[in-house]
Amino acid sequence: MTTQHKQRLAVMTSGGDAPGMNAALRAVVRTAIDKGAEVYAIFEGYQGMVKGGDFIRQMYWDDVGGILHRGGTIIGTARSTEFRTREGRRTAARNLLLNGIDRLVVIGGDGSLTGANLFREEWAGLLAELVERGEITSELATLHPYLYIVGLVGSIDNDMFGTDMTIGTDTALHRITEAIDAISSTASSHQRSFVVEVMGRNCGYLALMSALATEANWVFIPENPPEVDNWEDVMCQALGEGRKAGRRDSIVIVAEGACDTFGNPIKSEYVKKVLEDRLGEDTRVTILGHVQRGGSPSAFDRNLSTLSGYAAVEEILKATPESEAKLIGIINNRITASPLMYCVQQTHAIANAINQRDFQRAMELRGKSFCEAFETLRTLVRGKPRPSQPGQRRLRIGILNTGGAAPGMNTAARAAVRYAIDRGHIMYGIRNGFRGLIDGDLHEMDWMSVEDWTAVGGAELGTTRVVPSGSELYAIARNLEEYQLNALLVIGGSEGYQTIHRLSTERTTFPAFNIPMVCLPATINNDLPGSELSIGADTALNSIVEVVDKIKQSAVASRRCFVVEVMGRYCGYLALMSGMATGAERVYMHEEGVTIKDLQADLEHLIEGFRHGKRLGLIIRNEKTHAVYSTSFMAELFATEGRGIFEVRHAILGHLQQGGNPTPFDRIQATRMAKQCIDYLLREAEKPLPEAAFLGKAGTVSFYSIAEWPRMINVEHDRPRQQWWYDLYVPIARALSKPAPATAEISE
Ligand code: ADP
Repeated sequence: MTTQHKQRLAVMTSGGDAPGMNAALRAVVRTAIDKGAEVYAIFEGYQGMVKGGDFIRQMYWDDVGGILHRGGTIIGTARSTEFRTREGRRTAARNLLLNGIDRLVVIGGDGSLTGANLFREEWAGLLAELVERGEITSELATLHPYLYIVGLVGSIDNDMFGTDMTIGTDTALHRITEAIDAISSTASSHQRSFVVEVMGRNCGYLALMSALATEANWVFIPENPPEVDNWEDVMCQALGEGRKAGRRDSIVIVAEGACDTFGNPIKSEYVKKVLEDRLGEDTRVTILGHVQRGGSPSAFDRNLSTLSGYAAVEEILKATPESEAKLIGIINNRITASPLMYCVQQTHAIANAINQRDFQRAMELRGKSFCEAFETLRTLVRGKPRPSQPGQRRLRIGILNTGGAAPGMNTAARAAVRYAIDRGHIMYGIRNGFRGLIDGDLHEMDWMSVEDWTAVGGAELGTTRVVPSGSELYAIARNLEEYQLNALLVIGGSEGYQTIHRLSTERTTFPAFNIPMVCLPATINNDLPGSELSIGADTALNSIVEVVDKIKQSAVASRRCFVVEVMGRYCGYLALMSGMATGAERVYMHEEGVTIKDLQADLEHLIEGFRHGKRLGLIIRNEKTHAVYSTSFMAELFATEGRGIFEVRHAILGHLQQGGNPTPFDRIQATRMAKQCIDYLLREAEKPLPEAAFLGKAGTVSFYSIAEWPRMINVEHDRPRQQWWYDLYVPIARALSKPAPATAEISE
């Protein structure tokens, strides 16, 4: 029986499917139930809304269990021509009202959200017509005078204004980079050229970012056509130069909507012909197509969807007649709610600008970081650097890694080396971190020395955890002088910050340390102050999620609880985010600690759950959660107490988390951060007293003086005092991982 006073909302997925839609659905359903509301799903998008009946059904906690890792959408999606008509929308309104629904969360692309906005604007008129036609009573119409809408953008194209990322884009980038990495290896074996077509009719995001992430050599996007009419010559010259310099393959990425300045499409087949005719290259075309939409969602997409779904329910439940329809997005790493109508209008403005060939405006509307990425790519794709300017001051910049290996270190090094050389400077690679600077193990790096580094995990330059002291400082000063290094880029984790801080405090003793120095945050632990996401963390997170998905799958027949230990040192970021992405019911972190009482309560929950039919339990434990209550201790405790009711297995994931090739996000961030760090060094080098600093948030390009570092960290546990994600995410993770009701089959 339904109670009258409960708020009721419906959720639907619509338009093109996107990986992560299921995670969003799960979050909407569970958050709504957690907040005491009733939640319905509309199956098959607007088509189901128009059909009504069984297409609109109430959802319960366990209806959305076990779906986080699945691509597509379990409630179906469709394109509906009927909903494009007023009659169709009138029928849809009636079907919602018959179910007492006037709050709607729409997960879809630009088209779906445009439709939702129109539906909302027409609502009062549609209801009047329905009353007039005798299809609903006027009492029912009076009970629901407004339609409240919140939109979540599910679209792999990242083509929506009002959010930095749409649900599905990151996963699509994973698919594209996997494919291009694979193509590159065969292309370089045969010295072939490949033209790869990616999705994006009005939006070059996928093309541009996948080019940055894969060392592609040329890219065509709709927003920024080649500036010159003879672009074929320009492209061929650049690709030809690259070949002469020793490049074994050429990869050109074409967005499906790419065009020239006249608006004529640039087709993959044409590009292939140009390369064959003018360069005589053996060229193949690969159109990636629907592969880009498919597969299991990335960790980022699962968590973006979960966080946005949660925010959507909060927005929709508090909506009043005065509030506007909202679009939930992510801007600068924070979940945001923006006016839906404005976002839809601005999105259309970009498409219009492209159609009207106002490309400057299209680029402006895409935003600053998009434009910067385009500029950076232009530098990185060069076959050879621009010559240095006569009379220019050529800096000699040392580059090294410190701390544990973080996937993306090589990507950062490559971008830094190329970017600096292209500006006329000289780069010195220092081997094995500060050890190499102590021992004088350094060498000049040229343009081609970093070819093919972008996609490779590990650290080609090597890395150590050495934090120099005593006579080692003297050795460093001597080598800085001997090699006349006048700037230092340190890629890595906390050991690098510690060392740079030490060097900067010793400047009076060692004048050689009076050079600009900068730390680029790279550690899988994400435990550095200032930066919100360090390089490597996204890759580690995806590695964990992939393995945990497999571990969960292995529990087919038995009632089993897994305790999985992840890295992170004293920072619970990896544990929390992997727990959120895999549907763990409990995450243990050092920040929260764990007591014997907690363990007892968790054990009781497990026993209760398994007694009532639950088949799978998942607990994620950060490696430093507790010195005594170790992973094996916890597993044994649960196994002993749960004997006869459930089994326990534990897994310590270990170094697989530091390995693997970097994810597209880590590659893109590493590239952007490297450029920002080189720019910083160049700026500081002009000053009489250059600073030493570390990079903060990449989006806002903030640098913190290294003098601030001690104040920003919790020294005992070597993690930031303020962990930005903690208060934002912990309550959401908890709300969604509550023990499922007694009927649970699999609870996630
Ligand atoms: P996406 O949401 O992925 O952009 P579509 O553009 O195909 O996908 O839109 C999905 C559905 O949303 C359409 O089939 C239609 O039912 C509805 N829709 C799209 N645009 C409008 C519109 N302008 N008015 C009414 N409904 C629309």
